[in-house]
Amino acid sequence: MTYDLVIKNGTVLDPKTKLYGKKDIGIASGKIRSIENSISDNHAIDIIEAKDKLVLPGLVDLHVHVWWGVAHLAVEADPFCLERGVTTAIDAGSSGANTIAGFERYVISKAKTRILAFLHISGMGQLDNDIGELEDIRWARIEKAIEASTLHSDSIVGIKVRLSHDIVGKNDIEAFERALAVAKEINKPLMIHIGGTYNTLEQILPKMRSGDIITHSFTQRPHGILDNNNKIIDIALDAYKRNVIFDVGHGAGSFSFPVAEACLEQNIVPGTISSDIHKYNARGPVFDLLTTLSKYLYLGLSLNDVISKASYIPAEAINMDSNIGTIQIGSDADIAIVEHLKDGKFNFHDAEDNVRLGEELLVPEITLRKGERFNPKHKIHEKLIS
Ligand SMILES: [Zn+2]
Repeated sequence: MTYDLVIKNGTVLDPKTKLYGKKDIGIASGKIRSIENSISDNHAIDIIEAKDKLVLPGLVDLHVHVWWGVAHLAVEADPFCLERGVTTAIDAGSSGANTIAGFERYVISKAKTRILAFLHISGMGQLDNDIGELEDIRWARIEKAIEASTLHSDSIVGIKVRLSHDIVGKNDIEAFERALAVAKEINKPLMIHIGGTYNTLEQILPKMRSGDIITHSFTQRPHGILDNNNKIIDIALDAYKRNVIFDVGHGAGSFSFPVAEACLEQNIVPGTISSDIHKYNARGPVFDLLTTLSKYLYLGLSLNDVISKASYIPAEAINMDSNIGTIQIGSDADIAIVEHLKDGKFNFHDAEDNVRLGEELLVPEITLRKGERFNPKHKIHEKLIS
């Protein structure tokens, strides 16, 4: 067989199929056609030499904002996701029932990145930075959200609600209840954004179902998952044990090294690692998903674990096809070729100005989406280098 492209001599790591080692990958018509110890150059129209590079499944970022031009915080998906290793990006609530049709037509269908969406329970999505989308609870209309979720079921993977006081005022419980009602009706997961809620989580966490998602799990803002002694609160531990997914959602104000460290000491490990990449963190402290994963390498997770939590595990969390987030024959050639630097000095900032000095950094080299190549405009941001 002749391949359009062969990736040669890379170290392939695919956590889902437990594939790890030096392999060549043959690609034709945008699909992975073979995974061999060696593929002859004679069978390749084009070659990527990946010696000393990691060849990973195209990453799945469970929390991004890419409704550029409409949601105040959004970035464009292709430069900030696809060129940086993320082939599947899940927009977390930038759009609501009033705006999802435009998001689908002008962004989802145009971008090279595969984009899916959590629909915001607020019809406006996240339009404005100063006026919270649920300060007026009338924006949370159950029937409209169900209707939009049904009409746009190809794009919508779940429901999102943000519960911070500056976004919903005192409406946190009611907003949560309405979002949960929609998620139950459409039988898809609910993603809640915690941190700085008006009320405690007492009336929220016990109602979350297995497979629902808490994003910003490791926030330092009030009413997080730890008590004043840094011990996980009972209702959060109960949720964790019944497989509510604790997602990272780093963001500009929502990831704290001390909280993440205290959680790991208590064996509370994130279920998924997402970036919450948006306009206010793309030049730090987030930069990209690979940097967020590098922070968890610093915190002691294995390479296999961090890649799992940003590939097939988030894909399964939103019930995607079983061939997304994995390197398998027959699946789309969505592949992240990444350099794994191991003895540098990298300044990792959380969202609270805590700094950790890391030695390892995952750096995007080339990303393939359906076999098409994308290169990052820059590789390492200068602020990361100590
Ligand atoms: Zn977000």
